[in-house]
Amino acid sequence: MFTEITAAYQSLSTVVQLAKTVQQAATQVEKNEVLLGMQNAVLDLQSKMMAMHAKMDELAEVRRAAEAKLIAYENWNAEAEKYQLFNIGFTGRLVMALKPSHAAGAPDHWLCPNCFEKKEKSYLNRENARYTEFKCIRCGYKVNYDASDPREIRPREVRVLR
Ligand SMILES: [Zn+2]
Repeated sequence: MFTEITAAYQSLSTVVQLAKTVQQAATQVEKNEVLLGMQNAVLDLQSKMMAMHAKMDELAEVRRAAEAKLIAYENWNAEAEKYQLFNIGFTGRLVMALKPSHAAGAPDHWLCPNCFEKKEKSYLNRENARYTEFKCIRCGYKVNYDASDPREIRPREVRVLR
């Protein structure tokens, strides 16, 4: 941006200098030469101003994208606060479990820890007829959990899926 401003300022200085020179021209031929030079300098200034505006538009877009990223980051942090990494089941697999204190009426569900690390919310859905296998719909991560198995972990702070 600084480069574009400097270039536009230099072009403007040239136009101003030529405007002063045209008054000092002794003959009409000299005036016409200076005016022709001024015309070219004005066109150059116009070009530099357009480059400056293009750069300003580009910077405005960068700012909008940065603001959108910041909002997405803040939204993700608020969403991520609702979940807790939990070692579930005797097979020792991990899930992101919805904290009961943050459920706010949402049904019990687990999220994929791999996708969660990438700031993507992806549900672990039941896959088999006995409803013991849960699979990430995005990356394929699998967890086996059978709520009827006495060996399964049943944490008090995390609601298990039945
Ligand atoms: Zn996943």
